[in-house]
Order: sequence, then structure tokens, then C-alpha cells
Amino acid sequence: MTGTHAHALSVNDVRVGTHPDKTRIVFDLSTISDFRVFTLSDPYRLVIDLPSFDWKAPALTGTNMGITALRHGNLEAGISRIVFDLNRPINIQSAFALPQQGAKPNRLVIDVSHVSHDHFMRNKGETFGTLTIEPVNLAAKHGAYTGRTASSASHPAFTPPAPANKPAQGKKPLIVIDPGHGGVDPGAIGANGAHEKDIVLGLSKALKQRLEESGRYRVIMTRETDVFIKLGNRIKFARDHGADLFLSVHADSLPRPNVRGASIYTLSNKASDAQTAKLAARENKADLIAGIDLSVEDEEVANILVNLAMRDTMNQSKYFANTLVDTFNTGGLKLLERPHRYAGFAVLKAPDIPSVLIEAGFMSNRNEAVSLASKEHKDRFAKSVHKGIDAYFKTVAQNEQQ
Ligand SMILES: [Zn+2]
Repeated sequence: MTGTHAHALSVNDVRVGTHPDKTRIVFDLSTISDFRVFTLSDPYRLVIDLPSFDWKAPALTGTNMGITALRHGNLEAGISRIVFDLNRPINIQSAFALPQQGAKPNRLVIDVSHVSHDHFMRNKGETFGTLTIEPVNLAAKHGAYTGRTASSASHPAFTPPAPANKPAQGKKPLIVIDPGHGGVDPGAIGANGAHEKDIVLGLSKALKQRLEESGRYRVIMTRETDVFIKLGNRIKFARDHGADLFLSVHADSLPRPNVRGASIYTLSNKASDAQTAKLAARENKADLIAGIDLSVEDEEVANILVNLAMRDTMNQSKYFANTLVDTFNTGGLKLLERPHRYAGFAVLKAPDIPSVLIEAGFMSNRNEAVSLASKEHKDRFAKSVHKGIDAYFKTVAQNEQQ
């Protein structure tokens, strides 16, 4: 699925009208189509799923339904999603399609009313409509975890032992690159209007190409197009493929527009500093932004920082992160102060795959937002990460020979 070609369905307008007994939301559609409408809690959200659409509606203005944000985009192959963030609980009274009639186009109509929190919670998840999709809300079900035996005793502290899914003899290490966000979740919006999801996809593709050209690695990406992927499924993807290294690529945003530079993050249950704790909270919101029911995810994202294997993995991740700091420095990439930081990033929680998250720079800095999309910067980024990966696997190989 690419997001570039036109879809059969387009959303041409959205209106919200207040009536004495209800609030009516109307979408003008190019064709009558199946839909799926439901609510989610924490925060209150109204979610509408439709077959993949092109969004042609102007911005929503002047409503009093308690809408604080409206997002839309790809959810998964064949499905697009619209999410309303609400500051008040609502109840869906009805949702129905109205075919074209005279001058009136095909419409999807959703009637909602304001209700108490208890009322909302009783009806939450009740689905209107017949669109059937793969249940994206289901937590990624991991296969039984068969982590390798921890052998840290034979290694000096803080050098990476063999990777979790040790490549078979003669098999090239598998790198999974994870371009952050996508589809309905744009990530940070740049000072120049660019979306983080597009910027990091460009950086990731440049890195993939460079690694493949080296002939030393196999490389796959969690997404190659503008599609939404749950945080848990990014990890599952890497584990299912037996990745040796996992790199999540992001670009940050801060209210201070002069801040710029890259930084590297690893997992920890305690954040290195308040700023990093906030960053992790922002990045972990991806599923929420896409309208995923987080109440069924809690178990999935529950603390798994428990066993020895995990601690080993975390040491390898830290080692790799520090290696990247070095190669970024020598590669002429500007870094933040204390460029290796840590916090509870959900996407770094694979217990058996060394994982780092790279914030390639700041979308909130206009110059950097422009630079991150340039060929020159992408090349420098790819080269520096490539050197870091080479150095990391060299140490892994040396340790294996000991
Ligand atoms: Zn991000």
C-alpha cells in the first residue's frame, strides 16, 4: 500500500451541528461505504474507521462538542482512521450512511450526546457499522520467549555478548530499522510544516540502502510507506524476524525552537532526566494518537524488565548507543549535551534484541527540519549509523572468539 495513489473513497467535508437533543457529525463522502464507529477512554475519543480514503475536507472550525483535536490517516492496509479527541464523555446514539440525494452528496452521519463518565464507560467499545477489519486493538501475541542463556559471567561488564538471535554461521546480521509514527499519527510537526513520519522514513531508507550496499547486513524496515503500526507490533515484527539489532528512528520537537542536535536513547525503567521522561511519554503516545484502546494494551506494555536476558540486552543496547555517539561525533553530526539518555520507551522493550531509539534532530528547529530532509544530511546520518553498526558487530565478533 502506498499513500500516493488516489483511493476510491474520499472524505470531502466534515461538519458538526448542535441540536437540542444531540450533536450531529456529518462526513461528505465520494461513495457510500462501510464504516465502523466506536469510542475509547483515557482520553475520551471518538474513532471512525473507513476503507482507505483521501482526505479532502477543510479544517473543522467552531464546534462546541468538546473536540480538542481531529486526526486522520492510514491505519493499516486498506483501512483509514479518523480520531476525534474529546474533553467530555459522549454516547453514540446512531451512525448511518445516507446515499446521495439531489444536491446532497453521500454522507456518513453520527449522532452523539453528552453523558456522564459512568454512562460513557458502560457503552465504551460498542461498535456501530459493519466494516470488518483485522482487530488492530488486539495486543501483539508473542510466541513463547526462548531467550538465550545469559552468559555475562564470561564477559567483562558493559561489552556486548552474543546477540539474542545469534545469526547462523555465515548468515549476515539482521538489522530492523523502525521509522517512527506513520499513517494517522504524523509524529512531530516541523517548524516548516513537515511531518516527523515522512522525515524519519527518508532517513531510514537512506540508512537501509547504505547498509545493504555494504553487503554485510540484511535489513528490513517495520514500514516502508505511510502506514500506522502499533508500538507493540514494531517489536513483534523485529522478534518474528529474529533481528540482531533494532533501531527506531525519530525526530523530536520542543517549544524552544533554537534547540537542535541528535540524541540516542536506550530503555530504562528510570529516566535519565526530566526532559527524557517527557520525550518518552510523547513517543509512547503513538498508539493513543492512532485511537488504540490502551486499556487492553496494559498487559502488553507491562514491565518486562525482569530477567537476566533483559539486563544483558540492555547492556548491549547501551554499548551500541555509546558507539553511535562516537560515530555521530566523528561523522560531523551535531549532538545534544549528554547525547546518550534513557527512559521507558515502549518501542525499546524487546527483551532479547539490543534496541536504541535515535532522535535524529528537532523538527521544531526550522533549519534542522529542512536539513533533515536533505540528501546531504541523510547521507551523513546513514554513514554515521553504519559506522556505529560496524563497530558494534566487530565487538560482538571479538567477544564470541574469546
Ligand atoms: Zn517520534
